[in-house]
This record gives sequence, structure tokens and C-alpha cells, in this order.
Amino acid sequence: MRRISIFGATGSIGESTLDLIGRDPEAYQVVALTGGHNVTRLAEQARAFKAEIAVTAHEEHLPDLRDALAGSGIEAAAGAGAIDEAACRPVDWAMSAIVGAAGLEPGLRVLEHRGTLALANKESLVTAGPLIMATAQAHHARILPVDSEHSAVFQGLVGEDIDAVERVIITASGGAFRDWPLEKLAGATLAQASSHPNWDMGQRITIDSASMFNKALELIETREFFGVDPAQIEVLVHPQSLVHAIVGFNDGAMMAHIGPPDMRHAIGYALHWPDRRDLPVERLDLASIGQLEFRAPDEVRYPALRLAREVMDAGGLTGAIFNAAKEIALDGFIAGQVGFMDMAQVVEQALDRLEGDASLAHAAITLDNVRAADQMARRTAKDLINAGT
Ligand code: NDP
Ligand code: MG
Repeated sequence: MRRISIFGATGSIGESTLDLIGRDPEAYQVVALTGGHNVTRLAEQARAFKAEIAVTAHEEHLPDLRDALAGSGIEAAAGAGAIDEAACRPVDWAMSAIVGAAGLEPGLRVLEHRGTLALANKESLVTAGPLIMATAQAHHARILPVDSEHSAVFQGLVGEDIDAVERVIITASGGAFRDWPLEKLAGATLAQASSHPNWDMGQRITIDSASMFNKALELIETREFFGVDPAQIEVLVHPQSLVHAIVGFNDGAMMAHIGPPDMRHAIGYALHWPDRRDLPVERLDLASIGQLEFRAPDEVRYPALRLAREVMDAGGLTGAIFNAAKEIALDGFIAGQVGFMDMAQVVEQALDRLEGDASLAHAAITLDNVRAADQMARRTAKDLINAGT
């Protein structure tokens, strides 16, 4: 039996992970399941999968979680510290699927306890890539990518020498507004930005897909995980979301990963790695699909991509600043405080203000420094929003 934990169990990735685990329940012993506000669902999951412990991120929900678990023998706990403690319980495999920078610390704890970390939480690599990679190395623990593009690149590299890689191309659907005229984008509403043409995901990543902040994070994620030079990483708009990534080699060959837009493929690959097992995903019929389209992304339409390149050039703690400012700008858009195109402006101005502090680009990527940069960027982005930027 493999011991497993899921951080962010009540979210889109968490539910898909449990869907796979639930198809072979005898093979797994569920240790910890964590969630946020949705304690009813968290308790249902914990009971169904006989978890050892269920943890909500929010202390105020602890009484409800305790009530919902009464008589089950399952432990209940609350708060970021309790999630961290749950992540210290040794497991063979853990899914990191909390959304946002809050996902970083539990992932570090899993690695410190030598668990294999299936990493959906791209913010871990964006905010603290060198720290999380070094932690894995120091503890001889493994990180397996779950973001679909990165899983695709990882699969394209099996048996290959990274030195033979010339380019890595990650695809982007273009999100909800890919066919909108540029001048209409400023007026995009929350409801419009929250529906994705191809993927069924959490609200925050869905909006980030429409603004391409998701792809911006993924550029940095590619650089940090695979250690390739930023100049080797390309983004290609591919409206069908069937080709997830392409690895280009020094002999001109390009290995493309094609699969249905269903996260259970990438999750299942990480769950069963290094084996491939049967997964409950659609088998594509390319003859009926007929055509695959590709086009270059427009950086005027998607300033987030330009900002990601600047962040990769600057290095240091700028990834943490970029991510935190983006999280606040996204909160502002969800709350109706800033417009759709203003999100990139808030992030750019926060970067401009804080990049003046040259020490940031050169500071060591420790957890304390990442936390401090994250907090500073959140304050700066909030100030900018309140000042009506
Ligand atoms: P969801 O919003 O659907 O789920 C997020 C999960 O995190 C929920 O369990 C939520 O709890 C919990 N959570 C939210 N805030 C906190 C917090 N501060 N502390 C602890 N837990 C918290 O997100 P997704 O599943 O869509 O995405 C999860 C991660 O995976 C993200 O980093 C995303 O970028 C990445 N990813 C997602 C993909 C997808 O297809 N969805 C694809 C590739 C990557 P609750 O809901 O109970 O409040
Ligand atoms: Mg992705």
C-alpha cells in the first residue's frame, strides 16, 4: 500500500487525484487531506478515503470540520501550521495542489521527509524554484511535474540527454478571450474570464489563462524545473489544447506530446511513474479532429509574457514578487476593483517599484527571504490598487 497525502484535496486537481485513487482504493493509504473553505467536501473525502487527518487552512472552520468528522476517528486540524505539520507525516507520494504561494511550504516539508512530490502548484517553482529543487536534491526526494505542459516536456525527455535539447515549446490555448478584439479586453467581466474553452479548472487559474499570467508562470516554471535557458523556451498559441508541449532537439527533431485536455492524464502519469497505466481519459481520434492550429502569441495582448521574461532575466526574488503581485491583482479583479487589463499594469508597477531594490535580485532564495519578498509585493500591489492605478 502506498501512503499518500493530497494538499488542496477539495480543488479541481485534488478532486481529479482522488478520482484516480478511488479507482484502486486497495493500493493506497490516504494520510492527510487538506482544504480551505469547503470543509463539508473535505470531511466527505476524508470519510470516503479513510484519511488519518483532515486539515482546513482556516481556523474558523475547525468546529465545522470537527462536527462533520464526529465519530469517524479521523483527526481534524486547522491553520497553515497544521497543514505544515500534516506535510511532515511521512508518505510515499503527495499531491501539491493548493492554489497560490501557500502551496510552497507543505511541498518543502514533503520533500524534507523524502516523499515524492507531484507538483501541480506552479507557484512553488515561480516563487522559490532554486529552494525547492535544492531541497529535493538534499533529501534525495523526487519532484514530478503535474502541470500538463511540464508533464509533457518531462515525458518528451525520457531517455534523452538534456544537453541535446535546443528548445522547449509550451502551448497555450489563449484562454477565454483568444478571439476577442484587443480593444474589448479592458471591459472583460469576471464571469467571462472565469470560463475556459478547453479545460475545467479552478477559477483562479482559469482567469490566469485568459490573461496569460498562467503561461507566464509556466515559462518560469519551465526554466526552474528543467534548468533550460530562458531563450530556449517558447510559447505557442494552440487553440485546441491537444499538443501540450514540444521538445526540440539539436538534430532538428521535435517531440510533441499529444493528449486530451484532461488533467487526469498528467496526474496519473505522476501517480504511476515510472510506469504507464491505463487511465480513464478520452482516446483522441486525430482523423476526426482533422487540424491542429498554431500561432505566435501577441505580447501586446498578453503583457504577462513579456513580464515573465523580465523576471527570468532578473532572477533572485523577483519571481516571488511577480507571483505575489499577480495574486493581489487577481484578487482585485475578482473583487471588481481592477479591470482585466489593469492586472498586468499592477504587476508591472509593483515590479518596477521593488526592482529598484537591487538586493532583491541577488538575495539568497531562502524561505524567509521568499516570505518577506512575497509580503512586500502584496503590500505594494494593494497600495497600487488602492491608489487607483
Ligand atoms: P482550485 O482553486 O480548484 O483548488 C485549490 C485548492 O487549494 C482547494 O483545495 C482550496 O480549498 C485550497 N486552498 C485555497 N487557498 C488555500 C490556502 N491559502 N491555504 C491552503 N489551501 C488553500 O485550484 P486548482 O485545483 O485549479 O489548482 C491547484 C494548483 O494546481 C494551482 O497552483 C494551479 O495553478 C495548478 N494547476 C491546476 C490545473 C488545473 O487544471 N486545475 C492545471 C495545472 C496546474 P477550498 O476550495 O476548500 O477553499
Ligand atoms: Mg498548464
